[in-house]
Amino acid sequence: MNDHSDVRENLDAVQAEIAAAEQDAGRNKGSVTLVAVSKTHDGERIRPALEAGHRIFGENRVQEAQGKWPELKEAFDGIELHLIGPLQTNKSDDAIALFDVIESVDRPKLVGALARSMEKLGRHPACFIQVNTGEEDQKAGCLPDDTDALVAQARAAGLNVVGLMCIPPFDQEPSLHFALLADIAKRNELAQLSMGMSGDYETAVTFGATHVRVGTAIFGVRPKPAA
Ligand SMILES: *Cc1c(COP(=O)(O)O)cnc(C)c1O
Repeated sequence: MNDHSDVRENLDAVQAEIAAAEQDAGRNKGSVTLVAVSKTHDGERIRPALEAGHRIFGENRVQEAQGKWPELKEAFDGIELHLIGPLQTNKSDDAIALFDVIESVDRPKLVGALARSMEKLGRHPACFIQVNTGEEDQKAGCLPDDTDALVAQARAAGLNVVGLMCIPPFDQEPSLHFALLADIAKRNELAQLSMGMSGDYETAVTFGATHVRVGTAIFGVRPKPAA
């Protein structure tokens, strides 16, 4: 029988490591926000994190999130949900209705769809532009060279663009990608950087991450592969 008490211990450990990394980097305590990535895990596995007081979660699929979060939102106040996975334009309304932050804005057509959904629903989630820093064919995100134009377009369309997000290639030194993302954010006067996952979040904090997205280190190995 698994009582899921490991989730609370893992969460405490990750938070302690973030605090240590903030201190090592000479950054203010609490300057890094932990987005607990709960994709593929069910409500029973997520509850211990909520009961421990954690409120900020990341999901990568709209439909999966629609299945489990409405009930958890009923049970716990102040939940902030981040969409961190690729978004199809036909799911734009659903995403805006459910999520508080969209971290995966990556192309002009999606900017247009999100702007229309926001207008229609009267909700204006904060947005990150996702950058494909490794220029990988199979990965979502706009190319580094296209980012300035996409940020400008998103701002002009009325999106509340707060920062940039990246997922470095898994077989490369992540710090190069973190530094590149920080550089692009700086020239676009964007203050927030969502970067760093279970394997590299301490490094990301050193390079200025304001948000780290950590799944496996909190909830354990995912029960099924996530896209
Ligand atoms: C799954 C996922 C994460 C979390 O990855 P872990 O290695 O399990 O910490 C972070 N960001 C995105 C975009 C993801 O899809």
